[in-house]
Amino acid sequence: MGNKRRVLVVEDEQTIAESVAARLRAEGFEVDLAHDGPGGVAAAERGRPDLIVLDVMLPGYDGLEVCRRVQAARPVPVLMLTARDDETDLLVGLGVGADDYMTKPFSPRELVARVHALLRRVERAAQPEPDGSTIAVGDLEVDPVQRRVRRAGTEAHLTPIEFDLLAYLAARPRAVQPRERLLAEIWGWGEAAGTRTVDSHVKALRRKLGADLIRTVHGVGYALEVPE
Ligand code: CA
Repeated sequence: MGNKRRVLVVEDEQTIAESVAARLRAEGFEVDLAHDGPGGVAAAERGRPDLIVLDVMLPGYDGLEVCRRVQAARPVPVLMLTARDDETDLLVGLGVGADDYMTKPFSPRELVARVHALLRRVERAAQPEPDGSTIAVGDLEVDPVQRRVRRAGTEAHLTPIEFDLLAYLAARPRAVQPRERLLAEIWGWGEAAGTRTVDSHVKALRRKLGADLIRTVHGVGYALEVPE
């Protein structure tokens, strides 16, 4: 068994699929390709990839359905390709379960950097927590060991990346965190090009936990503040 990491690319646009696959292979990944929804699910079952690059609009059934079916069988990190920035908001809001989003058009170089960052993040998340104590800020409780969140005693169900973002902000209450820093710390991505992903996930957290929890600092980033 080799130790090459395997990426499944599910994309019906041939030119995009080929250029992404070529770039990933050049980086030392094993790459499988699928061109429609059912083919993507079958390839994920067969190849057991370490990560999936998944287009939203696919023949058969769409990327959301592929993500649901694949994740139901086995958790695997998903980088979703979207056609527009506002589509990212929509998908994060739906709790689709992708870990990161990229809007077309993108450069293959950027995609490869995001794939590396996502794999690093998943490996880091698998490490045991150095300090497992519950974080409490006002009526918000974040338990990093059980990865559970409550506000005013009511449990909220977060995706893994929403949890990581909230835990990072809650550990630093009232401190303004620039979008670029959140992108680097949570997504492991060192360039500012993906800050829209941060905005989308903050929106999702507000929807689940209350709009008053995370303050926007215009032009800079976010701070977690529980009102007195
Ligand atoms: Ca497509």
